[in-house]
Amino acid sequence: MALDAQSIQAAVDAAHRDNAGLQGGANASYIPYLASVDSSLFGVAVVTAEGEVHSAGDADFEFALESISKVFTMARAMADVGPEAFHQKIGADPTGLPFNSVMALELHNDKPLSPLVNAGAMSSASLVKAEGAEQRWQRILETQQAFAGRKIQLSPEVNHSEQTTNFHNRAIAWLLYSGGAMYSDPMEACDVYTRQCSTLVSTKDLATMGATLAAGGMNPVTQERVVAAELVPHMLAEMTMEGLYTSSGDWAYTVGLPGKSGVGGGVLSVAPGKLAIAAFSPPLDPVGNSVRGMAAVAQVAQRLDLSLYKVP
Ligand code: GLN
Repeated sequence: MALDAQSIQAAVDAAHRDNAGLQGGANASYIPYLASVDSSLFGVAVVTAEGEVHSAGDADFEFALESISKVFTMARAMADVGPEAFHQKIGADPTGLPFNSVMALELHNDKPLSPLVNAGAMSSASLVKAEGAEQRWQRILETQQAFAGRKIQLSPEVNHSEQTTNFHNRAIAWLLYSGGAMYSDPMEACDVYTRQCSTLVSTKDLATMGATLAAGGMNPVTQERVVAAELVPHMLAEMTMEGLYTSSGDWAYTVGLPGKSGVGGGVLSVAPGKLAIAAFSPPLDPVGNSVRGMAAVAQVAQRLDLSLYKVP
Protein backbone atom coordinates (compact mmCIF):
# COMPACT_ATOMS: atom_id res chain seq x y z
CA MET A 1 0.00 0.00 0.00
CA ALA A 2 1.43 3.35 -1.03
CA LEU A 3 1.95 5.94 1.70
CA ASP A 4 0.22 8.82 -0.08
CA ALA A 5 -2.00 11.24 1.83
CA GLN A 6 -5.21 9.71 0.52
CA SER A 7 -4.28 6.14 1.54
CA ILE A 8 -3.22 7.29 5.01
CA GLN A 9 -6.45 9.25 5.57
CA ALA A 10 -8.50 6.28 4.34
CA ALA A 11 -6.67 3.96 6.78
CA VAL A 12 -7.25 6.38 9.68
CA ASP A 13 -10.94 6.76 8.82
CA ALA A 14 -11.42 2.99 8.52
CA ALA A 15 -9.62 2.30 11.82
CA HIS A 16 -11.92 4.76 13.55
CA ARG A 17 -15.10 3.49 11.90
CA ASP A 18 -14.33 -0.22 12.30
CA ASN A 19 -13.31 -0.04 15.97
CA ALA A 20 -15.71 2.58 17.36
CA GLY A 21 -18.14 -0.16 18.39
CA LEU A 22 -15.49 -2.39 19.93
CA GLN A 23 -16.52 -3.24 23.50
CA GLY A 24 -14.49 -4.52 26.40
CA GLY A 25 -12.06 -3.11 28.90
CA ALA A 26 -12.59 -0.53 31.63
CA ASN A 27 -11.18 2.88 32.47
CA ALA A 28 -8.26 2.83 34.91
CA SER A 29 -9.82 3.09 38.36
CA TYR A 30 -6.79 3.38 40.66
CA ILE A 31 -6.39 7.03 39.59
CA PRO A 32 -9.80 8.62 40.37
CA TYR A 33 -9.62 11.20 37.55
CA LEU A 34 -9.13 8.53 34.89
CA ALA A 35 -12.21 6.64 36.07
CA SER A 36 -14.29 9.75 35.36
CA VAL A 37 -13.30 10.25 31.69
CA ASP A 38 -16.04 9.52 29.11
CA SER A 39 -15.38 5.91 27.98
CA SER A 40 -16.90 6.49 24.56
CA LEU A 41 -14.26 9.03 23.45
CA PHE A 42 -12.20 7.67 20.57
CA GLY A 43 -9.61 9.44 18.42
CA VAL A 44 -7.14 8.23 15.79
CA ALA A 45 -4.32 10.25 14.19
CA VAL A 46 -1.30 9.83 11.96
CA VAL A 47 1.46 12.41 11.57
CA THR A 48 4.02 11.70 8.87
CA ALA A 49 7.77 12.26 9.06
CA GLU A 50 7.11 15.24 6.76
CA GLY A 51 4.62 16.74 9.23
CA GLU A 52 1.32 15.98 7.47
CA VAL A 53 -1.54 15.40 9.92
CA HIS A 54 -4.44 12.97 9.40
CA SER A 55 -7.12 12.31 11.98
CA ALA A 56 -10.57 10.93 12.74
CA GLY A 57 -12.96 11.05 15.69
CA ASP A 58 -12.12 12.82 18.96
CA ALA A 59 -8.51 13.51 17.94
CA ASP A 60 -8.50 16.98 19.56
CA PHE A 61 -9.78 15.82 22.97
CA GLU A 62 -7.01 16.20 25.58
CA PHE A 63 -6.27 13.26 27.86
CA ALA A 64 -3.59 12.37 30.43
CA LEU A 65 -0.29 11.34 28.86
CA GLU A 66 0.50 8.92 31.72
CA SER A 67 3.13 6.28 30.91
CA ILE A 68 3.75 7.55 27.40
CA SER A 69 5.66 10.33 29.20
CA LYS A 70 8.31 7.73 30.07
CA VAL A 71 9.58 7.80 26.48
CA PHE A 72 10.28 11.55 26.58
CA THR A 73 11.88 11.50 30.02
CA MET A 74 14.08 8.70 28.69
CA ALA A 75 15.18 11.07 25.89
CA ARG A 76 15.95 13.88 28.39
CA ALA A 77 17.87 11.64 30.81
CA MET A 78 19.80 9.84 28.05
CA ALA A 79 20.83 13.18 26.55
CA ASP A 80 21.90 14.42 30.01
CA VAL A 81 23.99 11.44 31.16
CA GLY A 82 24.82 9.77 27.83
CA PRO A 83 23.36 6.56 26.42
CA GLU A 84 26.04 4.28 27.92
CA ALA A 85 25.62 5.52 31.49
CA PHE A 86 21.85 5.49 31.07
CA HIS A 87 21.92 1.88 29.88
CA GLN A 88 24.25 0.81 32.65
CA LYS A 89 22.17 2.48 35.38
CA ILE A 90 18.65 1.60 34.22
CA GLY A 91 18.95 -1.37 31.85
CA ALA A 92 16.97 -2.12 28.68
CA ASP A 93 15.30 -5.49 29.17
CA PRO A 94 11.62 -6.31 29.54
CA THR A 95 10.62 -7.12 33.11
CA GLY A 96 7.97 -9.65 32.09
CA LEU A 97 5.85 -8.24 34.92
CA PRO A 98 3.25 -5.46 35.30
CA PHE A 99 4.36 -1.82 34.93
CA ASN A 100 4.26 -1.14 38.67
CA SER A 101 5.77 -4.44 39.79
CA VAL A 102 7.76 -4.53 43.01
CA MET A 103 8.71 -8.14 42.38
CA ALA A 104 10.59 -7.06 39.23
CA LEU A 105 12.92 -5.07 41.46
CA GLU A 106 13.37 -7.89 43.95
CA LEU A 107 14.26 -10.29 41.16
CA HIS A 108 16.94 -7.99 39.71
CA ASN A 109 18.81 -6.56 42.71
CA ASP A 110 16.70 -3.38 42.68
CA LYS A 111 17.80 -2.50 39.12
CA PRO A 112 14.78 -1.16 37.20
CA LEU A 113 15.67 -2.96 33.91
CA SER A 114 13.50 -0.73 31.74
CA PRO A 115 12.97 3.05 31.62
CA LEU A 116 9.42 2.33 30.46
CA VAL A 117 8.12 0.81 33.71
CA ASN A 118 7.33 2.94 36.77
CA ALA A 119 10.57 2.08 38.58
CA GLY A 120 12.80 2.85 35.59
CA ALA A 121 10.85 5.99 34.78
CA MET A 122 11.34 7.38 38.29
CA SER A 123 15.00 6.42 38.12
CA SER A 124 15.22 8.22 34.73
CA ALA A 125 13.56 11.32 36.18
CA SER A 126 16.16 11.28 38.96
CA LEU A 127 18.96 11.25 36.34
CA VAL A 128 17.75 14.44 34.64
CA LYS A 129 20.27 17.16 35.40
CA ALA A 130 18.63 19.69 37.69
CA GLU A 131 18.92 21.61 40.90
CA GLY A 132 15.73 20.76 42.69
CA ALA A 133 12.26 19.60 41.81
CA GLU A 134 11.09 22.68 39.88
CA GLN A 135 14.02 22.69 37.46
CA ARG A 136 13.77 18.90 37.03
CA TRP A 137 10.10 19.28 36.22
CA GLN A 138 10.59 22.23 33.86
CA ARG A 139 13.22 20.37 31.84
CA ILE A 140 10.95 17.32 31.49
CA LEU A 141 7.92 19.45 30.57
CA GLU A 142 9.95 21.40 27.99
CA THR A 143 11.04 18.10 26.45
CA GLN A 144 7.41 16.96 26.15
CA GLN A 145 6.51 20.35 24.63
CA ALA A 146 9.33 20.17 22.09
CA PHE A 147 8.19 16.69 20.98
CA ALA A 148 4.58 17.89 20.72
CA GLY A 149 5.53 21.19 19.07
CA ARG A 150 3.29 23.20 21.35
CA LYS A 151 2.99 24.27 24.97
CA ILE A 152 1.15 21.33 26.45
CA GLN A 153 0.25 21.85 30.11
CA LEU A 154 0.07 20.02 33.39
CA SER A 155 -3.52 19.32 34.42
CA PRO A 156 -3.83 20.36 38.10
CA GLU A 157 -6.85 18.06 38.38
CA VAL A 158 -5.05 14.94 37.08
CA ASN A 159 -1.93 15.79 39.07
CA HIS A 160 -3.90 16.21 42.30
CA SER A 161 -5.70 12.93 41.69
CA GLU A 162 -2.38 11.12 41.21
CA GLN A 163 -0.31 12.85 43.90
CA THR A 164 -2.89 11.97 46.54
CA THR A 165 -3.07 8.28 45.55
CA ASN A 166 0.48 7.37 44.38
CA PHE A 167 1.54 5.47 47.51
CA HIS A 168 2.62 2.39 45.57
CA ASN A 169 4.97 4.48 43.41
CA ARG A 170 6.38 6.18 46.51
CA ALA A 171 7.21 2.74 47.89
CA ILE A 172 8.94 1.81 44.62
CA ALA A 173 10.95 5.06 44.79
CA TRP A 174 12.21 4.18 48.28
CA LEU A 175 13.08 0.64 47.18
CA LEU A 176 15.12 2.09 44.31
CA TYR A 177 16.84 4.41 46.76
CA SER A 178 17.73 1.57 49.11
CA GLY A 179 19.11 -0.39 46.14
CA GLY A 180 21.26 2.52 44.87
CA ALA A 181 19.20 3.18 41.73
CA MET A 182 17.86 6.64 42.66
CA TYR A 183 19.99 9.63 41.68
CA SER A 184 18.02 12.42 43.35
CA ASP A 185 15.85 12.62 46.43
CA PRO A 186 13.42 9.69 45.87
CA MET A 187 10.29 11.64 46.77
CA GLU A 188 11.36 14.42 44.41
CA ALA A 189 11.73 11.88 41.60
CA CYS A 190 8.32 10.38 42.41
CA ASP A 191 6.72 13.85 42.52
CA VAL A 192 8.22 14.86 39.17
CA TYR A 193 7.35 11.49 37.59
CA THR A 194 3.76 11.92 38.79
CA ARG A 195 3.64 15.38 37.21
CA GLN A 196 5.06 14.12 33.91
CA CYS A 197 2.16 11.61 33.79
CA SER A 198 -0.37 14.41 34.42
CA THR A 199 0.11 16.53 31.30
CA LEU A 200 -2.71 16.70 28.76
CA VAL A 201 -2.24 15.83 25.08
CA SER A 202 -4.58 15.26 22.16
CA THR A 203 -4.33 12.26 19.87
CA LYS A 204 -2.86 14.64 17.25
CA ASP A 205 -0.22 15.83 19.76
CA LEU A 206 0.66 12.23 20.53
CA ALA A 207 1.08 11.42 16.83
CA THR A 208 3.30 14.52 16.45
CA MET A 209 5.44 13.36 19.38
CA GLY A 210 5.82 10.00 17.66
CA ALA A 211 6.47 11.60 14.27
CA THR A 212 9.43 13.40 15.86
CA LEU A 213 10.89 9.97 16.56
CA ALA A 214 9.89 8.73 13.08
CA ALA A 215 11.81 11.69 11.65
CA GLY A 216 14.96 10.81 13.63
CA GLY A 217 14.52 13.33 16.46
CA MET A 218 13.54 16.43 14.43
CA ASN A 219 9.96 17.63 15.01
CA PRO A 220 8.58 17.62 11.46
CA VAL A 221 5.97 20.28 12.22
CA THR A 222 8.19 22.86 13.98
CA GLN A 223 11.48 21.74 12.35
CA GLU A 224 13.10 21.85 15.80
CA ARG A 225 15.77 19.26 16.66
CA VAL A 226 14.39 17.72 19.86
CA VAL A 227 16.71 14.77 20.47
CA ALA A 228 19.99 13.74 18.85
CA ALA A 229 19.47 11.28 15.98
CA GLU A 230 21.81 8.74 17.57
CA LEU A 231 19.59 8.47 20.67
CA VAL A 232 16.40 7.65 18.74
CA PRO A 233 17.24 3.97 18.01
CA HIS A 234 17.70 3.34 21.75
CA MET A 235 14.25 4.76 22.37
CA LEU A 236 12.58 2.77 19.60
CA ALA A 237 14.34 -0.43 20.72
CA GLU A 238 13.10 0.05 24.26
CA MET A 239 9.57 0.79 23.07
CA THR A 240 9.66 -2.52 21.23
CA MET A 241 10.83 -4.43 24.30
CA GLU A 242 8.58 -2.90 26.97
CA GLY A 243 6.31 -0.23 25.45
CA LEU A 244 3.11 -2.24 25.88
CA TYR A 245 4.34 -4.03 29.01
CA THR A 246 3.60 -7.77 28.99
CA SER A 247 1.86 -7.38 25.62
CA SER A 248 5.00 -6.00 23.94
CA GLY A 249 5.82 -9.35 22.35
CA ASP A 250 2.28 -9.75 21.03
CA TRP A 251 2.52 -6.21 19.62
CA ALA A 252 5.81 -6.98 17.87
CA TYR A 253 4.32 -10.18 16.47
CA THR A 254 1.10 -8.65 15.14
CA VAL A 255 2.07 -5.02 14.40
CA GLY A 256 5.87 -5.09 14.14
CA LEU A 257 6.44 -1.49 15.26
CA PRO A 258 7.79 0.10 18.45
CA GLY A 259 4.90 1.29 20.61
CA LYS A 260 3.93 2.88 23.91
CA SER A 261 0.72 2.94 25.89
CA GLY A 262 -0.55 4.88 28.90
CA VAL A 263 -3.35 4.20 31.37
CA GLY A 264 -5.01 7.44 30.22
CA GLY A 265 -6.00 5.47 27.10
CA GLY A 266 -3.33 6.67 24.68
CA VAL A 267 -1.46 4.30 22.35
CA LEU A 268 1.40 5.30 20.04
CA SER A 269 3.41 3.41 17.43
CA VAL A 270 6.28 4.64 15.29
CA ALA A 271 7.21 3.55 11.76
CA PRO A 272 10.80 4.86 11.53
CA GLY A 273 11.39 7.22 8.61
CA LYS A 274 7.70 7.17 7.72
CA LEU A 275 5.09 8.19 10.29
CA ALA A 276 3.58 7.73 13.72
CA ILE A 277 0.12 6.38 14.53
CA ALA A 278 -1.71 7.41 17.71
CA ALA A 279 -5.08 6.50 19.15
CA PHE A 280 -6.98 7.32 22.31
CA SER A 281 -9.84 5.50 24.04
CA PRO A 282 -10.08 5.17 27.84
CA PRO A 283 -11.15 1.52 28.42
CA LEU A 284 -8.09 -0.64 29.15
CA ASP A 285 -7.41 -4.36 29.03
CA PRO A 286 -6.02 -6.08 32.18
CA VAL A 287 -2.43 -5.26 31.15
CA GLY A 288 -3.29 -1.53 31.09
CA ASN A 289 -3.43 -0.96 27.33
CA SER A 290 -6.35 0.75 25.56
CA VAL A 291 -8.57 -1.85 23.88
CA ARG A 292 -9.85 0.33 21.02
CA GLY A 293 -6.58 2.25 20.88
CA MET A 294 -4.55 -0.88 20.22
CA ALA A 295 -7.05 -2.18 17.69
CA ALA A 296 -7.04 1.11 15.77
CA VAL A 297 -3.26 1.55 15.71
CA ALA A 298 -2.79 -2.08 14.70
CA GLN A 299 -5.32 -1.74 11.89
CA VAL A 300 -3.62 1.35 10.43
CA ALA A 301 -0.19 -0.30 10.65
CA GLN A 302 -1.41 -3.49 9.00
CA ARG A 303 -3.36 -1.74 6.26
CA LEU A 304 -0.35 0.45 5.41
CA ASP A 305 1.91 -2.62 5.64
CA LEU A 306 4.35 -1.00 8.07
CA SER A 307 5.83 -3.95 10.02
CA LEU A 308 9.57 -3.48 10.48
CA TYR A 309 10.05 -7.21 10.23
CA LYS A 310 8.71 -7.50 6.71
CA VAL A 311 11.44 -8.65 4.34
CA PRO A 312 11.29 -6.37 1.28
N1 GLN B 1 0.79 7.43 36.42
C1 GLN B 1 0.57 6.04 36.20
C2 GLN B 1 1.25 5.21 37.26
O1 GLN B 1 2.29 5.61 37.73
C3 GLN B 1 1.07 5.65 34.84
C4 GLN B 1 0.96 4.17 34.55
C5 GLN B 1 0.71 3.84 33.12
O2 GLN B 1 0.27 4.67 32.32
N2 GLN B 1 0.91 2.58 32.77
O3 GLN B 1 0.75 4.19 37.66
